[in-house]
Amino acid sequence: MKKAKDILNTNNLTKLVLALAGLLSLIAIFLVVTKQTPRQLRMSGECRSVVMVASGDTLSKLLLEQGLTHNDVNAIAKVLKSDAEITTLRADRDKLEFVRENDDAPVSKIVVIPSPWHQVELTCGEDGQWNCETVDVERDVRAVYRHGEILDGDSFYLAGQRAGIPAGILIDVYDLLAFEMDFERDVRAGQKFSVLYEENFSEGQKIDNGRVLAVSFEALRGNVQMYRFRKSDGTTGYYDADGNGAIKSLKRTPINNAKITSNFSRNRKHPVLGYTRAHKGVDFRASTGTPIPAAGAGRVIARSYNKGHGNFVKIRHNGSYETLYAHMSKFAKGVNVGTNVRQGQTIGYVGSTGYSTGPHLHYEIIKDGVHVNPMTVKLPAISNLGKEEKKKFQEYRKVLEKGIEKLEKNPTMYIQM
Ligand SMILES: [Zn+2]
Repeated sequence: MKKAKDILNTNNLTKLVLALAGLLSLIAIFLVVTKQTPRQLRMSGECRSVVMVASGDTLSKLLLEQGLTHNDVNAIAKVLKSDAEITTLRADRDKLEFVRENDDAPVSKIVVIPSPWHQVELTCGEDGQWNCETVDVERDVRAVYRHGEILDGDSFYLAGQRAGIPAGILIDVYDLLAFEMDFERDVRAGQKFSVLYEENFSEGQKIDNGRVLAVSFEALRGNVQMYRFRKSDGTTGYYDADGNGAIKSLKRTPINNAKITSNFSRNRKHPVLGYTRAHKGVDFRASTGTPIPAAGAGRVIARSYNKGHGNFVKIRHNGSYETLYAHMSKFAKGVNVGTNVRQGQTIGYVGSTGYSTGPHLHYEIIKDGVHVNPMTVKLPAISNLGKEEKKKFQEYRKVLEKGIEKLEKNPTMYIQM
């Protein structure tokens, strides 16, 4: 347990995380272990009970139930607010742990647990005053490796699940690969993929999953590899095997896992109008109401309706790119002309307004005023590595690849970070 005063500020958590990620780039992978150590038992005679906050619960209700007085409740509420910036409890998320010296003793310590990684400890001094201290739970980060293969009729999701990759990690991996791959056309049976990701442990027990550290996918257009790397200035990003930025300013496929029903073409028979004209975007099949994320960060320059596009949003991104999203059933709240949006922020919902044969997203990328094929256009990376950083990246990658090689042979092992 590492003690600190102002932990509720999430910055500390971030710092801790960055430090751990940085370790790997600085020191060689040293420990590969196969067995988990069992959770340590508390040997003292103290009595602990944990209460999960339920809807309708208030701090005072929960404290009074434990036999605390109204004076205690007021003092605790005051110190929680001033020292830990906690004013309300979140149902189904926050936990309270009550500690007594023995079964019949009054509560001497209360631990508010807003996350597995930081806790707020309230202790009652001999003078009857309540003191508040925030405590960072140290995490033991282990990098684990999973690999799999696409089978006939498979989706990447199915194959990933079969490989034992947790759903949350799969979503992250999908988001990453979507910058480089077109899941509709690049995925075939027989292709292999692998993921190196973090598992966070505390006292020998797995608490949650961390970040994706490396991904590899044998796509049709070539092997896609991405590595998470921390630069000397402390910022982290994903880079390809050559150290070029893997996160692009735009996404080829804004909606994950949506099937392409119509491709970009300079010449196509329009399904509604009947005559031949260019299809200036890509159509993704998705059900009505599916959130449409912005393909990249930018400013909304149109939020409107026309006969062809129905409800549509147009975003201008940094540089020379614009994207357009058509046939929306409705716009997202707060998205108006002039709104700045983040990459991935929901801007509207799939629908079938305008000239459309069924619910789908029609997506366009416009580069310097010209429509381009979202599936093939070369997209600019958000950040690239300088010469010196590239060298460090390559050293780091070599170390990581060596670790991965070991894990490939021994899938039950992990890398101690
Ligand atoms: Zn279309």
